[in-house]
Amino acid sequence: MRWTEEARIEIQKVPGFVRKMAIKAVEKDVKNRGQEEVNVDDVRRSREKYIKFAEKSSDDKDKTRIAIVRCDTVAEVCPGIACFKAFNKRRQHFKQYGDNVEILGYFTCGGCPGRRVSRLVDTLLKYDLDVVHLSSCMVMEGDYPECPHKEEIIKCIESKGVTVVEGTHH
Ligand code: SF4
Repeated sequence: MRWTEEARIEIQKVPGFVRKMAIKAVEKDVKNRGQEEVNVDDVRRSREKYIKFAEKSSDDKDKTRIAIVRCDTVAEVCPGIACFKAFNKRRQHFKQYGDNVEILGYFTCGGCPGRRVSRLVDTLLKYDLDVVHLSSCMVMEGDYPECPHKEEIIKCIESKGVTVVEGTHH
């Protein structure tokens, strides 16, 4: 589908992590309207409809944004229910938060020795990440051993100016 130059510039304002999705959404809407070219108004309309909720807003400036990193191996058998229940009820390692908090990301470390933690924290920093929780599966002995790379992972996250909390639901 053809795009006007203005429309191309406008779509670049959409955050990178949802831009591909935004392009598809715009083109689908434009096609449904029987047009053959995307213009800047089409981009603005679809952005408002599908993407705006994911973008930063000035009303959110005091919000605490957290992410949870968990063990890649344990993720094979755990959908993360206990982490989310603890967060939703503000229990255990989430009890210090009030209402003005959101989970910005939930990701696995990428396998030993936590190979994608640095990269994903860098991405989350673009969206004002404040705190990373290490999931309880990383910090306690249970069916799986405590993460042997925990200290390096903590150091890596803290070196980027992000607070680390050890644990989620235990
Ligand atoms: S680095 Fe730690 S958390 Fe990640 S897979 Fe290895 S043991 Fe699990």
